[in-house]
Amino acid sequence: MIFATGNKGKAREFQEILGNTVGEIQTMKEAGINIDIVEDGKTFEENALIKARAIAKEINYKEPVISDDSGLEVDFLGGEPGIYSARWMGEDTSYDIKNAELIRLLEKADEDKRTCRYVAAVAVVLEDGTELCVRGTMEGEIAHEPAGENGFGYDPVFYVPMYKKTVAQLSADEKNAISHRGNALRLMKEKLENR
Ligand code: IMP
Repeated sequence: MIFATGNKGKAREFQEILGNTVGEIQTMKEAGINIDIVEDGKTFEENALIKARAIAKEINYKEPVISDDSGLEVDFLGGEPGIYSARWMGEDTSYDIKNAELIRLLEKADEDKRTCRYVAAVAVVLEDGTELCVRGTMEGEIAHEPAGENGFGYDPVFYVPMYKKTVAQLSADEKNAISHRGNALRLMKEKLENR
């Protein structure tokens, strides 16, 4: 199965969760695919499908393709940054700055209005053109200050009430067990196995 990403770490995470269900997962680079994909969908699902379809077409449907699209929704900000999470405040702006800005924007929010979630859509396009798509989420709150060194992106300000820790304070295994991507991948695994 080919994964619509250049990120080897992500590919390893996908392989760990999907196990033998899909055989060996290769990144685009490993499969020798080099195409630019315009992610102009309006939802996580649309963007995940756009990526998987583009690659499936490129390789003439010779292998199944998997892709994901994810982001952070902050309720107090009307769901922003949402599908623009990577680009929010500029692609090259550091997450230290983005996370500080999130905390600032939430200064006026009541304590119970700090809710947020990570969302991940995972899409698969099979050799016969069949399209599968699932969504996984992880609920949390925007922390009052950043904490933790693990993970990436918005993890230092994503507080998980159940653990009383930010995602950046969780181990990789703890995160995978409850994460949006983990949840979406487990759903996709079930879908693929029950076909
Ligand atoms: P994608 O790689 O195009 O799906 O963009 C995902 C973006 O959403 C990342 O660049 C982050 O800004 C944010 N994001 C998604 N998942 C996570 C996560 O697990 N931790 C922190 N940030 C995340």
